[in-house]
Amino acid sequence: MEATETKSAKEIVQAAWNKRPLIISGPCSAETETQVIETVTRLAKTGKVDIVRAGIWKPRTRPGSFEGIGTKGLPWLQQARKLTGLPMAVEVATAKQVEDALHFDIDVLWIGARTTVNPFSVQEVADALRGVDVPVLIKNPINPDIELWTGAVERVAKAGIKQIGLIHRGFSSYGNTEYRNAPMWHLAIEMKRRSPGLMMINDPSHISGRRDILLDVAQKAIDLDMDGLIIESHIDPDHAWSDAKQQITPERLAEMLDSIKWRH
Ligand code: PEP
Ligand code: MN
Repeated sequence: MEATETKSAKEIVQAAWNKRPLIISGPCSAETETQVIETVTRLAKTGKVDIVRAGIWKPRTRPGSFEGIGTKGLPWLQQARKLTGLPMAVEVATAKQVEDALHFDIDVLWIGARTTVNPFSVQEVADALRGVDVPVLIKNPINPDIELWTGAVERVAKAGIKQIGLIHRGFSSYGNTEYRNAPMWHLAIEMKRRSPGLMMINDPSHISGRRDILLDVAQKAIDLDMDGLIIESHIDPDHAWSDAKQQITPERLAEMLDSIKWRH
């Protein structure tokens, strides 16, 4: 019985992973059980989301802001998946986080931009993934260095992970610019060119850092033939515990996806 359930869960993740364009959405951070369940239920209702994202452990640039609900939030994601059938994705940065996420049947893991910069951390995550069959998405490092990005892909691949995808979330720069993280599109294009067979998902939320240019960034990514989008959504974006300025409601997400001119 259990084997059948596991197989069908894997099949659902597989189908989602192979869908183009792949649409991932969910809150920057899991905050409360109600927020997770309501966000995911409303996302499922749109019928436009393939995988749910939710940060459980949040790497904040400076201390003092919300650093994630931690392992306590993982059963909320399990529950949300049970209610909607949608696969769940979380960010992992340590071996313990990988272990906890897998213990709670998280379907997809991602390595964040502040982890991709650090080969020791990437290696620790990769080692924890040895012998595990789980898809892994790897965000670009915060600095514009595609060698580091490539190195992270190689470390995860060498650990035996077969399903690897890339997320382009833009690059840090000093001072205020139009974007929270400069897209430097040419780097995403070059990385896609040198990584045949790996999908490239665009993250308009972390590139924009604000709602009003999300659609333009998403459209540009699709025009450049990117394979999908990861966009943060929240039931009450203005009161989100992290990244409040860039999140949108599930219903607004659906409208936005409808207004994109898709290539295929
Ligand atoms: C996130 O996805 O919420 C996040 C922390 O992103 P990044 O690693 O791109 O900064
Ligand atoms: Mn975020």
